[in-house]
Parts: sequence; structure tokens; C-alpha cells
Amino acid sequence: MAIIVIGGGLAGVEATWQIVRRGESVILYEMRPQKTTPAHKTAYLAELVCSNSLRSQEVTTAVGLLKEEMRRLGSLVMEAAEKTAVPAGKALAVDRERFAQYITQKITTHPLVEIRHEEVTEIPRNDIVILATGPLTSDAISEDLKRITGKEHLHFYDAIAPIVYADSINMNIAFFASRYGKGEDYINCPLNEEEYNRFYEALLKAERVPLHAFEEPRYFEGCLPIEVMAERGKDTLRFGPMKPVGIIDPRTGKQPYAVVQLRRDNKEGTLYNMVGFQTKLKWSEQKRVFRLIPGLEQAEFARYGSIHRNTFIDAPRVLDKYLRLKNLPNVFIAGQLSGVEGYVESAATGILAGINAVRLLKNMPLFSPPPTTALGAMISHLTNIVTKDFQPSNINWGLFPRLPKKVPKRERGKLYAARALNDLEKWIREIINE
Ligand SMILES: Cc1cc2nc3c(=O)[nH]c(=O)nc-3n(C[C@H](O)[C@H](O)[C@H](O)COP(=O)(O)OP(=O)(O)OC[C@H]3O[C@@H](n4cnc5c(N)ncnc54)[C@H](O)[C@@H]3O)c2cc1C
Repeated sequence: MAIIVIGGGLAGVEATWQIVRRGESVILYEMRPQKTTPAHKTAYLAELVCSNSLRSQEVTTAVGLLKEEMRRLGSLVMEAAEKTAVPAGKALAVDRERFAQYITQKITTHPLVEIRHEEVTEIPRNDIVILATGPLTSDAISEDLKRITGKEHLHFYDAIAPIVYADSINMNIAFFASRYGKGEDYINCPLNEEEYNRFYEALLKAERVPLHAFEEPRYFEGCLPIEVMAERGKDTLRFGPMKPVGIIDPRTGKQPYAVVQLRRDNKEGTLYNMVGFQTKLKWSEQKRVFRLIPGLEQAEFARYGSIHRNTFIDAPRVLDKYLRLKNLPNVFIAGQLSGVEGYVESAATGILAGINAVRLLKNMPLFSPPPTTALGAMISHLTNIVTKDFQPSNINWGLFPRLPKKVPKRERGKLYAARALNDLEKWIREIINE
């Protein structure tokens, strides 16, 4: 039985590296340059398709912590990033050409790696496979994946609404309620006519992210960006995601003019999702415009909204905690396709898939990282079956188990990081000792 990695992007190279570090050989399929994706421009492995930043370096941020964990697990992406870094303040940014060249050279010259520049159109059923074909997975293999997962479990667009930290919502204005008094599941932000008009005008004028050519007209009616909905008329939002019917503001005893509802997004109740607020506004504009909503004037965003072309699976329904397909357990899914979001997150899942692929080959029990680590927190998000409408997420503190006691916000990052690195070290010792 061979180990096959499909896709030489960020996740694929990390997986490949972990396998060869453990002395096993691997066949890596990468379709470029024979066939390319709409976003890639070179023939290099691990090409960064957009920004050259791997975000914050500080270990007291969730993405900084994830990078530190990756370093400790022997990440090739982190090694390359450090060798090819360019000045970027507190962020880790790279010279994209040198970064991809460095990784390509390391992988292609490794004696245990065989590279095949071909498009894979069917997932091999009799080998150990790591499928890491990314957000722009080619059509043929998407079709095959659909056959395995069921077509309702493979998605081609993100329609992500912003997520805010619960403790940054002003509950002197916002209130818990479900429509028609049926429970208290949502946080509701009420707007009067004047507040609605102000918000509406700002939304129409806000700056948007330009679409990529291959993304242009493909919005689904069910998940139109909020600003596109607003363009259809002044009251469209009041009859759509901001409709106030069935909601009574306990402070006035009346139905507000409009309402923004936020739905709980994690078990702990620390994150709330702005229902129906998927958007293509620039991040800075989202912060400015959404803070005009009463109750959100100081809102801190764990994740901003977005809509883009992205192939990803309905992870909670189809993946196990080792990143394997539940109904085809020789196949691991890594990278953006698994339902994580971002360069660093994609690469990190490649590490885990690589480690476990070797363990599967050797008939050893598989490993899942502790949920208190950044890597483990991502796995918890991917496998949280409570989530009905699963959407990809960047790493953020809201995905971590709560700290044992309440601490001031500025202390939190330090405590999350200390707990994570302590648990990670124990886990690494377990991996090494077995
Ligand atoms: C347009 C765009 C811009 C993005 N910008 C950012 C950003 O600025 N910052 C950020 O953090 N994240 C960004 N992302 C999200 C994501 O982090 C990156 O796409 C990241 O590269 C994902 O890593 P990956 O390994 O999962 O996929 P990729 O890096 O895309 O690697 C997948 C590889 O698989 C190959 N492949 C696909 N199908 C097949 C097949 N059938 N057979 C063989 N090979 C195949 C592809 O050629 C590709 O090399 C962006 C995504 C897109 C689509």
C-alpha cells in the first residue's frame, strides 16, 4: 500500500514533509503546470495565490500560536517562511517567489518523494490518500468526491457572515429572544427608523472587495451579500435578514423597526454569528458599518464576513477527528478542502494528516491533538456536529475551550497560549514515544 498525496499546495507539501521525515516514501500529484487553477500563476509547489502574509507572529494571537505549534511539529512551511521573510512589523510576510522556490526545492530533491505532474480525476480507493486539492479543486476529482460524500456535503462557495465575540455585544441594548416568544436562542439588536436609515446609507456607500474574474456572477439567491440585497430597495433588508416580525424589545414593549439577529456559533456561547450578513465589504468597512448597529457599537470581530469561490466539505458530517472520510477511512482530507480557512490553517491540517497517514500505514492508533491547542481547536470546529450550516473558519480564540476562570481580555492570549503549548508538548512526547 502506498501513501499518495494529491495537491502540492500548502497542505500537500506539509503532509508530504511529515511523511518523508518519518522515513516513508510518498507519491505527490500536482496538476500544475500541465493544468492550472484560476488563481495559481506558477509551476511552484506551495504557491501563495494572494497575499504574501502569514499573519501575526505574536504567540498571544490565535494564528501566532498556531504557527508556533507548527514549528514545534517540524513544519516545512514555517521553515521556508522564516528563511524568506520580509519586514512586516508584527506579521510574518514572505518573498512569495523565494518561499515557493524553497519549498519546491526541498520536496522535489527529497529521495523519498516521487512527483507526478498530472491531474488526478479519481480518488484511489486502495491506497492511503491525502486529498489536499484546495479551494479550487479540479472539477473531475470534485465529482468523484461528491460520489463519496454525497453531493449535499460538498460546497463550492463560502458565504460567511461575520462572527462577533459575545462579550463585546452591549447587552444593555441587545436582548435574548426567538421570534414569536419561542425561546431565547438569538441575540437581537433592535433598530429604530432613524438608526436603520443611517445603517442602510452607510452600507450602500461602503467599499467592497473586488471580485476575481472567475467568481463574478455566481451568487445564489439564498446567500446574496447583504449590500447586494440592500441595493434592491430600501425595505428589502427589513423583509429579509433584518425583519423584525415576532420580536418584541423588552425595553420598549414594542416591535422594533428592524432587527439584526445573532446566532450562537459555538458550544461555549462565546461567539455569535450575524445571521444573513454574508458580505463582500472590505474588513475595515465591515467593522465601521456593522458597528452602527445598536448593541454592536464596540463589537469585536472573531471573523469577518466573505463570499468567495471555495470547494470545501461539510466537515462535521463527513470527517472523523483524524481528518479521514468517515465512509472511506483510507482517505484523509487536508487544507482548505477540509473546511479550514487560510494559508496557515491549511498548512497545519497537512501536518496532522501526514502524521496520521504514516501511523495508518504502520497499523498504529491515530492521533488527534488536544482541543486546547490551536491545531486541536480547529479539529473541534471541523468535527462539531452541533453546527448545522457548517462554514469554514480561520483560527480564533472562540474555537478554544474556555479558560478555567474569567480573566481580563488583554491577559487572555497569554493564558491560552501557555495552556496550549504545555498540552502540545505532552502530545508531542506521546507521538515520539510510541
Ligand atoms: C483566490 C484566493 C485567494 C486567497 N487568498 C488568501 C490569502 O490572501 N490569505 C490566506 O490566508 N488564504 C487565502 N486563500 C485561502 C487559502 O488559504 C489558500 O487557497 C491556500 O492556498 C489553501 O491551501 P491548500 O493547500 O488547501 O490549497 P492550494 O494551496 O490551492 O493547493 C492545492 C493544489 O492542488 C492542486 N490540484 C487541484 N486539483 C488537483 C487534481 N485533481 N490533481 C492534482 N492536483 C490538483 C492545485 O494545482 C494546487 O496546487 C485564498 C484562496 C483563494 C481561492
